[in-house]
Amino acid sequence: MTVAELLSDPRTDREAGEMKALVGELYPIPRSITGEGLRRTLQAIGRRIPLRFTEVPSGTPVLDWTIPNEWNVADAYVARTRGERVIDFRASNLHLVGYSVPIRRRVPLAELKEHLFSLPDHPDWIPYRTSYYQPNWGFCVTRKQLESLTDPEYDVVIDTTLTQGSLTYAECLLPGETGEEVLLSCHACHPSLANDNLSGIALATSLARLLDGARRRYTYRFLFAPGTIGAIAWLARNEEAVRRIRAGLVIACVGDAGPIHYKKSRRGDAAVDRAAAHVLRASGRAHRIVEFSPYGYDERQYCSPGFDLPVGSLTRTPHGCFPEYHTSADDLGFISARWLGESLRCYLHVIDVVENNRRYRNTNPHCEPQLGRRGLYRAIGGSPSPGRSEMALLWVLNLSDGATDLLAIADRAQLDFDTVRDAADLLCSHRLLEETV
Ligand code: ZN
Repeated sequence: MTVAELLSDPRTDREAGEMKALVGELYPIPRSITGEGLRRTLQAIGRRIPLRFTEVPSGTPVLDWTIPNEWNVADAYVARTRGERVIDFRASNLHLVGYSVPIRRRVPLAELKEHLFSLPDHPDWIPYRTSYYQPNWGFCVTRKQLESLTDPEYDVVIDTTLTQGSLTYAECLLPGETGEEVLLSCHACHPSLANDNLSGIALATSLARLLDGARRRYTYRFLFAPGTIGAIAWLARNEEAVRRIRAGLVIACVGDAGPIHYKKSRRGDAAVDRAAAHVLRASGRAHRIVEFSPYGYDERQYCSPGFDLPVGSLTRTPHGCFPEYHTSADDLGFISARWLGESLRCYLHVIDVVENNRRYRNTNPHCEPQLGRRGLYRAIGGSPSPGRSEMALLWVLNLSDGATDLLAIADRAQLDFDTVRDAADLLCSHRLLEETV
């Protein structure tokens, strides 16, 4: 089965429900950039696709960074002095600022308030905050919770550990006909947030499961790693694999109802950039293509100047551009199987184009070859304009100079990629075209 055939296979339709179910299963797990929640998340993915785990010990230098201590949470709450919990990690793992240091003491209200974060404009939402690299503690609360705190002092208990451990990431490698790689990367470090993080994990899992059953020209590497530090650790430890990357996509925010966005790689004109732009234009659906910027998800690392990899990012509404972003409102109701399914199809379309985008050389470049003699051109002349498939034959013959790829031909001819690819296949079978590498 080819990637193109996957697009009309009923298994692809079924993955929409599977993705929603996986997000639901992972949603309650408290995650961070290290720790047991991250491991449990990766283990759940590993029950669906083959995964190889890597543990990088705390203190390991990775490029300009150092793997932090491992953080785990046993319990965390703020209670009235009589014992009643008023802020409770067990009610929502977003309540605790990520990487909070342990503390157990009675705190005056004024001091407590210096460690509380809320959203003035959204009284019922809990924000998501972290403090990975500066020792601190804090709680995230709804504005209503904040306003209800009127006692002179409260008991604060943060039962966390920050100890020598390791950072975990996991990879699914699907070998192809060539060792050249396509990298599909998603961050796996956010706690109960559905669109930012879990939707990307679920899409990557389903995409890996589908591609595992397809014929592949490229080798596919799926990376599930904590944001920033995980991608940096992987890049620091995989010089060989980095050299083999020919295309890549950072997967995030793929479950909301917004239009699909493609953010170009730093190069701006890599094959994956042109493939995504072509697929989105041909889809006829609302979409946006945005230029690279050194902000966002782990494309920041893949597209840093020392690596400059051809890695873009395909999302629905981008990070920071929806009000629910990094709040408790990015919950299971914010995403749907329908939008996850549509996003998965978009990824398959882009991968299909990347898989089939090749360069050819016209073996008969001096004037047009006689197509009618070969049954490739209509027998009756005089019609005012040729059909699309005949135009595709003429464009492919004219532009196949060994350097111009099929995507560039499709874009210049304003034809869809499939028509151009079919023309190239037909010309190859008549030995009028040969593939160049
Ligand atoms: Zn985020």
